[in-house]
Amino acid sequence: MQRLRSILQRIDRKGYGAYKDLQGSYDLGPFTLFVDRVQRDPFAPPSLVRVRTKENGFEGALFGNGTRRVAFEDFLTRAVERALRRAVRGNRGSGGSGRMEIQRPSQVVLPRSSMVVEDGYVEARMAVGLPARGRSVDARGAEAMLLEELPRVVREALLPEGVDSRAARGHVETVEDADDLRRQLPGLGLVAYVANGAVLPRESGASDRPLGEGAVPFRSPEEYRVSVTLPNGGEVSGMGIPEGVTLVVGGGFHGKSTLLSALSWGVYDHVPGDGRELVVARRDAVKIRAEDGRSVAGVDISGMIGALPGGRATTSFSTPNASGSTSQAANIAEALEIGTSLLLVDEDTSATNFMIRDERMRELVQKEPISPFIDLVRPLYDSLGVSTVVVVGGVGDYLDVADRVILMEDYLARDATARAREVRDAFPARVPPGGSAGDVHAPRGRRVRASSIDLRRGKRETARGKGMHTIELGRERVELSYLEQLAEAGQTEAVARAIGEFAAGNRSRGVAEIVRGALDAVAENGLDSLGSFRGHPGELSLPRPQEVAAAINRIRSLEAATEKGA
Ligand code: ADP
Ligand code: MG
Repeated sequence: MQRLRSILQRIDRKGYGAYKDLQGSYDLGPFTLFVDRVQRDPFAPPSLVRVRTKENGFEGALFGNGTRRVAFEDFLTRAVERALRRAVRGNRGSGGSGRMEIQRPSQVVLPRSSMVVEDGYVEARMAVGLPARGRSVDARGAEAMLLEELPRVVREALLPEGVDSRAARGHVETVEDADDLRRQLPGLGLVAYVANGAVLPRESGASDRPLGEGAVPFRSPEEYRVSVTLPNGGEVSGMGIPEGVTLVVGGGFHGKSTLLSALSWGVYDHVPGDGRELVVARRDAVKIRAEDGRSVAGVDISGMIGALPGGRATTSFSTPNASGSTSQAANIAEALEIGTSLLLVDEDTSATNFMIRDERMRELVQKEPISPFIDLVRPLYDSLGVSTVVVVGGVGDYLDVADRVILMEDYLARDATARAREVRDAFPARVPPGGSAGDVHAPRGRRVRASSIDLRRGKRETARGKGMHTIELGRERVELSYLEQLAEAGQTEAVARAIGEFAAGNRSRGVAEIVRGALDAVAENGLDSLGSFRGHPGELSLPRPQEVAAAINRIRSLEAATEKGA
């Protein structure tokens, strides 16, 4: 502590660059402070520090297995975030002076690099704006931040005395239960599960927090009721959605999209209080939507598409500007390529001609390359074992291809399968679906040419996230706004680094191989190992293979071709 003080005294009022002398580690009593990187000036990206406690005094049950450890790290990150808000004064001068931040988690629980819980210590990684007056060192301000504010944060969020142990236990147990429930799905023949009492609607279209007043809690229809036993919560009852083709129908504004969206987030665990703690789906579930204008590189859409205009190859389809329906077909092919057992499709975000072609259009328009989804859902399940939950409000022909029908009415789910059968018999579809699909087969995998990704930007090489929805690779910006299952900016950053590593390696590889390689390395060596690119060690969250692949697939310069004989 003395050493830190004397350095600060020595550099007070000197040029900002003198802060460089702070680099190193300091014994501050109950914890060690590591100053890893010092910013060049008050306007540059903040300095990077870690605080590591001398011991881990938390009860072992909080981090006794992998799932619990991730959950506890998530809990502590949130605790630090709150403590920072209480303890840090904030603006102390020019630029980012006085700021102190930790990664901001979303509603879901993910492995992140902001926090490390080991048997012998707890470590938080933070960004600090070292304070300046104009462009010179403000030692008094820095002392207040590092020797008063920071120790208070450690006391209130990283040492057992300051942490609410009941809340910590609840957090860890909630996550463990969700994880266990998700693991039970295949054995129960289910693709998704919604516990009774779950709160699905969100506060607003711009917020992922639960709707407060007026939320109708979920209640399972009798027909789909499944009881499960969870390690901490004991017996729980709710709606199990079996494998196969499930239709969600209902009038406008009755809660269909809300249910589907909750299922799509069910690939992740949620924090206590979210309302969707026990809403889970297969971890590889992919929401499929239209995305006209996206680029497509060498995707095998032959399983879904007949002849394209001009005799263009469908086994290796490329376009800089996909239409609504071809983008949706490509999205499915890419999801199958990386691997999925559940597709989630909402009429609201689908291209009409992708969903259906009615009798008159089939008659009038002979040259239609794309098999509508209604012709694909059955073969997708029957031949490839890929289930679908599809929301439809307008297209009754889907009744012909569904294994079951869930009707949303006044935000309540009912089983409408029997009634749907009666309707189907009374009003048969004049063109039986399935006609134009032919055989649906899995798409061939692609090899990606690393050299088609150019990381150069001026004299530097860059591969980084810009917020949650954009990745910057050299001079290209990859647009990810339509990836509905990307949860937070930390995932985007991790994806950017994984792509950066592949591009720098300059070897051509298969898409699945790139993704698995990157995520296997993370599983083995931790998130910190992702990328040698400059950046905060504490701003990464673990992405799913599906989102890593989706980001690669959206690189406009990407050159990819289907592998022969695969
Ligand atoms: P649909 O897709 O059937 O048209 P949405 O799912 O978009 O309907 O829901 C319509 C509105 O109702 C949204 O504002 C949503 O937040 C709200 N909502 C959905 N489910 C519930 C619920 N269980 N309780 C209260 N409000 C809900
Ligand atoms: Mg809707």
